[in-house]
Amino acid sequence: SIRDVRFSYDFGNLKAPALNGVSLDIRQGDFICLTGPSGSGKTTLLNLLGLIEAVQDGDIHFNTNSLKTLTEREKNRVRRYQIGFVFQTFQLFPVLTAAENVEYFLTRQGIPTTERKNRVKDALAAVGILDQSDKKPAEMSGGQRQRVAIARAIAKRPRVIIADEPTANLDQATGKGVMEIFAKLNHDHQISLIISSHDPMVQSYSRHQVRLVDGKIC
Ligand code: ATP
Repeated sequence: SIRDVRFSYDFGNLKAPALNGVSLDIRQGDFICLTGPSGSGKTTLLNLLGLIEAVQDGDIHFNTNSLKTLTEREKNRVRRYQIGFVFQTFQLFPVLTAAENVEYFLTRQGIPTTERKNRVKDALAAVGILDQSDKKPAEMSGGQRQRVAIARAIAKRPRVIIADEPTANLDQATGKGVMEIFAKLNHDHQISLIISSHDPMVQSYSRHQVRLVDGKIC
């Protein structure tokens, strides 16, 4: 639940407002596409929802918890267990293989080895790249890299996946493949999806579209 959220980037004396009073309710199982012109605040809003940026004004509740009152430790738990984040530029570790990239955060969650290995396999199979497990990102196509990034997000078994322009660096057919994966996750597991995109193809997969202009929902 997002209530009257305002956010400015701070350059000392100069403040650059990015969100100017955003309110929105997102329910478990929703599939939302965030649209709007460049600079309208989409990434900023996703970063707030993903607990990458801290709430300044207004508040965001995750379940019943106000993000403003969570300790850093509690925020880390939400980030680690409940939210999967998929970035436009994939953000994989170049020195790790696909499987190791997926496994990395599970190791940090303290999940026992056997379950960890099973989850990695399941996640890579779900995105159709189990056969690429031992490849490093540099040996993979853009579409395959994005699938690794999605596998990494779903291996956590999160309640929500947040994806910032996940298809922007992919050709249309590959992007469609990625959206099919998101749609299946949403349908089969009721994972909430919040995806920003300029692309009508991406928008067509979502059930709700939320348009931001100048840091406000219109
Ligand atoms: P795009 O579609 O181009 O990715 P967006 O809708 O995601 O844009 P944001 O990236 O959230 O928009 O940017 C909102 C506003 O905040 C813009 O005016 C932008 O210039 C500014 N902004 C974004 N990131 C930063 C930053 N790290 N430092 C300063 N200003 C920023």
